[in-house]
Amino acid sequence: MTELTHLTIEDALKGLKNKDFSAKELAEAHIEAMEGARDLNAFIVETPEIALKQAEESDKRYASGDEGLLDGIPFANKDLFCTEGTQTTAASKILEGFVPQYTSTVGQNLADAGAVMLGKANLDQFAMGSSNTTSAFGNVINPWKTSDGKDLVPGGSSGGSAAAVAARISMGATATDTGGSIRQPASFCGISGIKPTYGRCSRWGVVAFSSSLDHPGPLARTVKDNALMLQAMAGYDPKDSTSANKPVPDYAAAMTGDMKGMKIGIPKEYRLDGMPEEIGKLWDQGAQWLKEAGAEIVDISLPHTKYALPAYYIIAPAEASSNLARYDGVKYGHRSKDAETLADMYAKTRAEGFGDEVQRRIMIGAYVLSAGYYDAYYIKAQKIRRLILNDFEKAYETVDAILTPTAPSAAFPIGENEDDPIKMYLNDVFTVTANLAGVPGMSVPAGLDANGLPLGLQILGKAWDEETVFKVGGVIEEAAQFNAMPQKVMSKAA
Ligand code: GLN
Repeated sequence: MTELTHLTIEDALKGLKNKDFSAKELAEAHIEAMEGARDLNAFIVETPEIALKQAEESDKRYASGDEGLLDGIPFANKDLFCTEGTQTTAASKILEGFVPQYTSTVGQNLADAGAVMLGKANLDQFAMGSSNTTSAFGNVINPWKTSDGKDLVPGGSSGGSAAAVAARISMGATATDTGGSIRQPASFCGISGIKPTYGRCSRWGVVAFSSSLDHPGPLARTVKDNALMLQAMAGYDPKDSTSANKPVPDYAAAMTGDMKGMKIGIPKEYRLDGMPEEIGKLWDQGAQWLKEAGAEIVDISLPHTKYALPAYYIIAPAEASSNLARYDGVKYGHRSKDAETLADMYAKTRAEGFGDEVQRRIMIGAYVLSAGYYDAYYIKAQKIRRLILNDFEKAYETVDAILTPTAPSAAFPIGENEDDPIKMYLNDVFTVTANLAGVPGMSVPAGLDANGLPLGLQILGKAWDEETVFKVGGVIEEAAQFNAMPQKVMSKAA
């Protein structure tokens, strides 16, 4: 039998129903994998005692035949999702020791579906970053290595979640995507992930970075597993004023493989100068696969694409500077010990508690919102955001979905791009557009680069039409037959 940690969620659910193994055995196998892979630094806190307790309860439900959608499935919970009774840090020093009194809606939905929490996954501090190197708890290491064994970043910000899933430590994970943080780490780690439509998954109980751009969503190894995860996570939540009161469709059922009559757009603006040739080739190959499956490939234009990255890096820091104002050492988290006055305490607490990248974002945000620059930067960026949404709406009058690469590179070595924030921000060039427009986007592993590292393709859909995204993603997955495994897992199996 396949090792328990190598099963897909879909197969594990079958095995649990058949009583081939128990939820407790499944949890134990994953706890062992988690403990054996600590060098990846994928978790800030491990919660094996919670996992075992939840697994035992799951076994009882299987015994009485009233199991939930994800009963017994071990998952990693990004440490941005509040967990009642378990520390939640957003990978920051300022929240170190913060133990929430409530659980995020998405986390609660997963618990209600029977999922088993292995621990709190590492991330870029406050989800700001593309490499997981901004965590106050040390960077995460990608289970994929270069051929000469060099350590690579897992992507970010959901790097701990993605590394845990790729290394077969967890079957799925929660993640958030503000500018690409589900899709880019999925691409870097050779797994799948979907950022649903804005409003599909509740943001309640998720530490806020940029509230109008933050999207909770899942990571898992297969497209079908993502469908099952999203199904459990999504749904209306009156506690989030931007949550949509819409029924959640059966995502797995949408994966029919039938591309007849479907039109897929290829946006010319995503063919960047200087992008590695192999990424362009993989993109062409992806279009070819969809064509062979019966879809019509249509060249389209999303003319304002080149303004997306600058608009994102104004709007996201602006909202972050406002959201992060609450961390002042008074209500929760870190408080500076050597402050004499209140103002001094605020300043010292924030200087000590926030990492460099977070401070950079707060400063950019405060600047673009300041009286003299508000119109020139913030308002202009909001206007660009509208134009980007218009581009998508126009394109979707002709096509059902859009295909692009997920990221302009494969995973890069730890330390690269560190001294040049703009170069780091360029990583998000293909992903931020969907956040600005609120439309769904998924990354599916589609091939390897010349160095043997995974590359993903991105499928973008219409608002509320995740079903088409899953359908197209399933076809790409089937055609790509991506079954390469990261070295970290292979050496364990050997
Ligand atoms: N890399 C982007 C940033 O640094 C996106 C992060 C995210 O989606 N959370 O802002």
